Parts: sequence; structure tokens; C-alpha cells
Amino acid sequence: MGHFCRLCGRIRANERFSGQGRRTHVCRECERMPKDERERIEHEEEIYGYLHQSHISDKNLRRLRTLVETGQPHIRELASIVLEVAAVKPYKKRRLKVLAQQRPDLLEALDRTGLIMAHHWG
Ligand SMILES: [Zn+2]
Repeated sequence: MGHFCRLCGRIRANERFSGQGRRTHVCRECERMPKDERERIEHEEEIYGYLHQSHISDKNLRRLRTLVETGQPHIRELASIVLEVAAVKPYKKRRLKVLAQQRPDLLEALDRTGLIMAHHWG
């Protein structure tokens, strides 16, 4: 039985993980990744997660504003798109339909950045 690494997304053999890595679900290889890169992957996943949720909460909005201010350029862009989406339609239900009617530019941004995939997960 292998173990899932949440950074590279691979299922790897147990010996590919340190004790600490098993707890945090990060393989030895990814543990050596530069902090910036690791942060970018983690923040990206976090932002995708918000779009997948049925509702983007006030707490999520505060977090997104922090990412817009402090994140790396790509993260700032993703976070600001999701903030705008939440301002139009915080609930996931009918979100794409409403965006198509009211903010086609935002729908286009979701598409261009790949964020739209999170909407369709599971
Ligand atoms: Zn890994």
C-alpha cells in the first residue's frame, strides 16, 4: 500500500516518505522543493477548493483578500478572480449561468486560468 503526496499528487511507496512527511502527506522529494514553489501549489489548491465548495463564506473571503495582498503574482490573480466571482455569486448553484449572463469576462477568466475545473469536480 502506498501513500498519497498532496503536492505532486502521486501515490508513492511508504519508504518515499519520512515520518513527518507521512503525517503532512508530502513525499521526501517534495519536502526538498523550494518554499516558494510549495507555497504556490498549496495556495493554488486552497483557491481551487473555495470554488468547489457549495458556498464561499465570509471567512474564505477574508482569506482570499490576504492572498491577494501577500501571495505570489499568479496566486494574487487567482485569488482576485475568485473574490470577484464570490461578489457576484457566493453560492455555487447556477454560478456559471449567472456569470455568463452578468460577467462573461469573469467566466472567461475562470476558463483561462483553469479555475473552472474546480467548479466541475466530483
Ligand atoms: Zn510528492
